[in-house]
Amino acid sequence: MQSRLRRNLFSIAVLVIGAACSLLYEVTAGLEDKNQVIKSIPTAHKVVALTIDDGPHNKTTPELLAVLKAKQVKATFFVLGINAEAHPEIIVQAVGDGHEIACHAFSHQRLNRLTQAEVNGEFDRFESLLQKLAAPSPGFFRPPDGAYNDALVALARQRGYITVLWSVDAGDWRQPPVDTVVQNVLKQVKPGAIILMHDGQYPLPTAQAAAIIIDKLQSQGYQFLIMSDLMRYYEERE
Ligand SMILES: [Zn+2]
Repeated sequence: MQSRLRRNLFSIAVLVIGAACSLLYEVTAGLEDKNQVIKSIPTAHKVVALTIDDGPHNKTTPELLAVLKAKQVKATFFVLGINAEAHPEIIVQAVGDGHEIACHAFSHQRLNRLTQAEVNGEFDRFESLLQKLAAPSPGFFRPPDGAYNDALVALARQRGYITVLWSVDAGDWRQPPVDTVVQNVLKQVKPGAIILMHDGQYPLPTAQAAAIIIDKLQSQGYQFLIMSDLMRYYEERE
């Protein structure tokens, strides 16, 4: 009798632990999916993020900031530490204007080719610089040239970053005519898109193109959000 009771208790325990494990698995699997490399956000809402890489540059970035201010649009700037060090006042201005500062590493090396110690060095230099500028600590990281591997994404996550790539490449860094950049974006954009533009060189068609892109997309009902706000629209897939 006692041993049957023990067997029954044992079976119940196995069932309960099994159910708890599968629940835990679902929760962590969902979280991991969300914390993997993000290229766009699954959502039916007409929201997009404008993300700008490689700056700040002393001419291109102020041009773009002026357009964004006039249009009352906030963007996420994936800045390079080395350029933020050269133009700290532009970072201060971008933060003051309400834009989000994110991490594009310190020196634009392909981090997947560096040792873990070297990658940590890139993050350390970037973070101590931003701290000096009193910029809010960035929650998003975009690897230079979009070059990453699992180890890099895991390390970034350990340091508190979500790794973000893009779904719409404006191609502005190749310095094409403004209209080409506009068409590149309008052709590819959809709800939850992450748009990639640049401000690391001069001249670039970026500011002029951004002005047109913002007008066109807003007239189609799109709203521009910084990455942290776009993440709130992340809808679980079926
Ligand atoms: Zn870059």
